[in-house]
Amino acid sequence: MLAALGLDNAGADDALSPVEALMRQAVPASIYTGPSSEAADAPSRIPSAASETEALAELRALASRNTVNRPMIGLGYYGTITPQVIQRNVLENPSWYTAYTPYQPEISQGRLEALINFQTMVAELTGLTTANASMLDESTAVVEAMLLSRRASKSSSTVFAVDADALPQTRAMLATRAEALGIDIVTVDFAAGEELPSELFGVFVQYPGASGRVWDPSAVFEAAHLSGALAVAAADLLALTLIASPGSLGADVSVGTTQRFGVPMGFGGPHAGYMAVRSGLERQLPGRLVGVSVDADGKPAYRLSLQTREQHIRREKATSNICTAQVLLAVMASMYAVYHGPDGLRAIALDVARKADALATWLIELELDIEHREFFDTLRVRVPSRASEIVAAAHDAGYLLHEVDADTVGVSVDETTTFTDLDRVAGCFASGTGRSFGYIAASEHGRLPEALRRQDEYLTHPVFHSHRSETAMMRYLKSLSDRDYALDRGMIPLGSCTMKLNAATEMAAISWPEFAGIHPFAPAADVQGYLELIEQLEGWLAEVTGYDAVSLQPNAGSQGELAGLLAIRGYHHANGDAHRTVCLIPSSAHGTNAASAVLAGMKVVVVATDELGNVDLDDLRAKITLHADDLSALMITYPSTHGVYEEQVVEITAAVHDAGGQVYVDGANLNALLGYARFGDLGGDVSHLNLHKTFAIPHGGGGPGIGPVAAKSHLAPFLPSHPLAQSAEHFGGYTFGGGVISAAPYGSAGILPISWAYVRMMGADGLRRATAAAVLSANYIAERLSAHFPVLYTGENGRVAHECILDLRPLKEATGITVDDVAKRLIDYGFHAPTMSFPVAGTLMVEPTESEDLDEIERFIEAMVMIKAEADAVAAGRWPADDNPLVHAPHTAVSLIAGEWNHAYSREDAAYPVHALVTGKYWPPVRRIDQAYGDRNLVCACPPVEAFA
Ligand SMILES: *Cc1c(COP(=O)(O)O)cnc(C)c1O
Repeated sequence: MLAALGLDNAGADDALSPVEALMRQAVPASIYTGPSSEAADAPSRIPSAASETEALAELRALASRNTVNRPMIGLGYYGTITPQVIQRNVLENPSWYTAYTPYQPEISQGRLEALINFQTMVAELTGLTTANASMLDESTAVVEAMLLSRRASKSSSTVFAVDADALPQTRAMLATRAEALGIDIVTVDFAAGEELPSELFGVFVQYPGASGRVWDPSAVFEAAHLSGALAVAAADLLALTLIASPGSLGADVSVGTTQRFGVPMGFGGPHAGYMAVRSGLERQLPGRLVGVSVDADGKPAYRLSLQTREQHIRREKATSNICTAQVLLAVMASMYAVYHGPDGLRAIALDVARKADALATWLIELELDIEHREFFDTLRVRVPSRASEIVAAAHDAGYLLHEVDADTVGVSVDETTTFTDLDRVAGCFASGTGRSFGYIAASEHGRLPEALRRQDEYLTHPVFHSHRSETAMMRYLKSLSDRDYALDRGMIPLGSCTMKLNAATEMAAISWPEFAGIHPFAPAADVQGYLELIEQLEGWLAEVTGYDAVSLQPNAGSQGELAGLLAIRGYHHANGDAHRTVCLIPSSAHGTNAASAVLAGMKVVVVATDELGNVDLDDLRAKITLHADDLSALMITYPSTHGVYEEQVVEITAAVHDAGGQVYVDGANLNALLGYARFGDLGGDVSHLNLHKTFAIPHGGGGPGIGPVAAKSHLAPFLPSHPLAQSAEHFGGYTFGGGVISAAPYGSAGILPISWAYVRMMGADGLRRATAAAVLSANYIAERLSAHFPVLYTGENGRVAHECILDLRPLKEATGITVDDVAKRLIDYGFHAPTMSFPVAGTLMVEPTESEDLDEIERFIEAMVMIKAEADAVAAGRWPADDNPLVHAPHTAVSLIAGEWNHAYSREDAAYPVHALVTGKYWPPVRRIDQAYGDRNLVCACPPVEAFA
């Protein structure tokens, strides 16, 4: 590889190895911290690499410092039983967890079907027409519903009314997000009979309430509608199998979490949130929406509908910044419903309701007061001035109860609760009386109000009835993953996404009960192992980025951006500079950047990029001058979204600082920098990192992710905090005082062991070598392919960073073959396409990562070279423009066999352009999908079986 780059003899005269010589060429000298630089000699906080066995042993030791108690706290997180068939075949199966977001629908039909099952499940349980394919968590979904209400409401009011009985983390997040956007939150105690404010654009109720109360919010919804406001309900999906759906009660939007559908608590995440809307609002939905379209043969096929997301996020006009979502967890939750079916879910819910009823009966026998007469799974018990004593006694007995206040204890029952558990918990309330409780016959429907009992049917589609044995379920999961292309089949060279190996050892700990079975609001004493792991990881990430403080709370890159920008906002406000609201963003930036700035209450001003893809320094200086008084921040991506180490980055950051602005460096692509440059050194004040890119967390088919935010010390006081966090202290002794970004204090804590294991097994040296290998691979591909496709941008020495952009516009001009044709043809060759038309239309952005060996890279290069030759054959007239293997790609097996073959090219050309494919070919299940058709005919629930006949 080095020889191809003319570097095999480089460095012979001095101490540099050829790889280091490449890095010297690629990384600007002004920011270089690699080997033989001064910075490289400083001691590292990262311990030297552990072996797999050692890392697992250390994780075991950390795990043993967590205590798995029975979680009866509730507040949006419940014990649940992950069916083993789902744990083994989804959560622990690389065919599911290493897949990418389904932007290439032809090779993603399996996960798209799982997601449409999810959407169908959510829409039917909530009684609304359209659900999206997962939200980051329940509280984020409530915020998105608030924003949706503001967009869709006819009221010009700034008031959003919020149920006093909403989850505390949701109320805290609403406060954070509303403040930045000038929305006024008015809290209303509906249980106490308080009325809605006279003017409002939306109302939000928790159904059932955080206190367990099951009530009928339809009168509240009606009153809201009379004011032109939208009605939002956060609803518990398990409860909805028994009680009237939000849709039937008049809600416009329903949101919530699907955690208790078989997804472990994981100390707060990851879990799939959900959002469903009534008809008429579907085009307002944030996040991803799976729909049904048709392929080139008119066969039904799934795809992402309404292309307003990620790269397509409409920048400063964006309404949401969600990109990475929670696909893997949505798949798990949907499969829980597929496995149990409607009657199974109902049986689980009834069991929970009856057990809660039994507990209430025993507590009433103890002459204790239960706050609400009607509830599903959660009861509030009045225990004047005894709450902490009872909660402590329960903790000693192995149960986590919720200390609401000094006089009130909350207890939540879930599908894991046994009668023995209930007996012991009741015993804690009976303190010292030694009483035991006999069997009681609970009423059939627990304590659910009769008037709110659910009457309508749900989950009637055959998919919720056909996979009810383990054999059938195992085969269904296999049949779906067989339709998909994931990293277990081959390279996914997606620029800006870093689809690297997710090593088995890194994945091992996430299903250990000491990590998976922990409630996010468990007492600090129970989570010492987690807190230590978190502090270590914070310290390691601070070290590699050159920042002082790190928060792991954001559960996606987009949320890290928002947290970072809110920290900048908080800093300006604290300095009396509230007028600093302008955020400069280069035109090439990732779509989430502008969207996050808007959500942080900033005004986006676009900065031009020059013909080399770099920030146009003249335009930047002009914009800084123009906005000198109100400049808040510059958001830049480094290396640039064009995959180049910009030489002028230090000048750029200095210019912003001189004008009193702060610098946000988008660190999603840290894979090009680890060990060679640090954001903190090149002038960044704050960054987010994507642990699901650089730090080995698998993409899961479109999530989960973790987007930590890292900052210099002056911004640390404004990093995310959480009212229910176990510890206020973070690495470096910092206490954070910013708002709430994720529902759980440490975000998706359950998957942090993956990144911890990655860093622990790489060591500082390994991280650096991985960077060099990634940069070498990208430069090698750029070099080998440059004779066939121009490489769009390079640095001063002609090198790219960790990815390269291949310009396909000349090809299109000469041959008529488009980026789309090439991407789909790559499927025939057994590849996932590179990133298409981002950041430049008509291009492919290739990122091989350090994980691909030379054979796989050569296979990719060969495919690209042959595809170029095929396009040339079209231009030369060997194949007609409308009948060649490119425009008809991808080819399904059926399309080759069915009927007569009368194309201008052979079947071998179509399916086996490279002989090696004969021994193991990936067959796409559908032909090219008609994108426009699916948007015109929006269908976002499971189509009837006959559609596939
Ligand atoms: C991936 C990416 C993001 C968004 O991260 P998510 O986790 O998908 O929200 C932002 N910026 C850049 C440059 C990225 O590559």
